[in-house]
Amino acid sequence: ANRVFHPDDSVINIGQKTIGGKKLAIIAGPCSVESKDQILNIAKNVKKSGAGFLRGGAFKPRTSPYSFQGMKEEGLELLKYAKEKTGLPIVTELMSPNHLDKFVEEVDVIQIGARNMQNFDLLKEVGKTGKPILLKRGLSATIEEFLMSAEYILAQGNEKVILCERGIRTFENYTRNTLDLSAVPAIKKLSHLPVIVDPSHAAGLWWMVEPLSKAAIAVGADGLIIEVHNDPANAKSDGKQSITPDRFHTLMEKLKKLAQIE
Ligand code: PEP
Ligand code: MN
Repeated sequence: ANRVFHPDDSVINIGQKTIGGKKLAIIAGPCSVESKDQILNIAKNVKKSGAGFLRGGAFKPRTSPYSFQGMKEEGLELLKYAKEKTGLPIVTELMSPNHLDKFVEEVDVIQIGARNMQNFDLLKEVGKTGKPILLKRGLSATIEEFLMSAEYILAQGNEKVILCERGIRTFENYTRNTLDLSAVPAIKKLSHLPVIVDPSHAAGLWWMVEPLSKAAIAVGADGLIIEVHNDPANAKSDGKQSITPDRFHTLMEKLKKLAQIE
């Protein structure tokens, strides 16, 4: 992942689209896929507003085993359906190597969640695929640990790694996590890999998504991953940090003035 071996920024191709390089990639969608209507409605809306990629969790890493765990295989099917209808490439989290073959076949970008950033066996497995991997920073991972996790994927021959700063655990508890904005320029100095920012999980508060998105662009992020839900108050996960499609639309209008969107 070291820039010494690769002075130019990496650009990752995903279908007709790219992450890294000059344009800002916008990945948007619900925390969890909840129903056919829900994912289709959100996918159509975020596409209309200018998002380039659809996110949605099918297998969910929840803190409590009693919380909604995702629609699993059925959720994947619904994501595929939303992709068919909108053309948006899909980004979703892989939690177990048992589902790897299915993900390789059906998903455009495989997300490795914060809680699995140091699941080295999982990293090695996705490293053996040719799929773009969105690697999220661990809850308390240093930048060096984060880059070493990326290295696990690269060492297996897969260089299509996108890093995601999603906030880290600090003493501050007003926000869900503390967005480490300095990680963006730090990683971009050390590494050629694209770095995107997740303001939704960083803040845990929907109204903070806009200012943190702008800040991420200012520090040089290559993209944003934003949670959008049609009915945040009744979302099965992460409703408090999710913005409505209307609010996403307004946000995109503002971001288009700051960056060229992919
Ligand atoms: C998510 O993207 O919905 C998620 C669970 O994120 P993280 O792994 O960053 O907590
Ligand atoms: Mn979430």
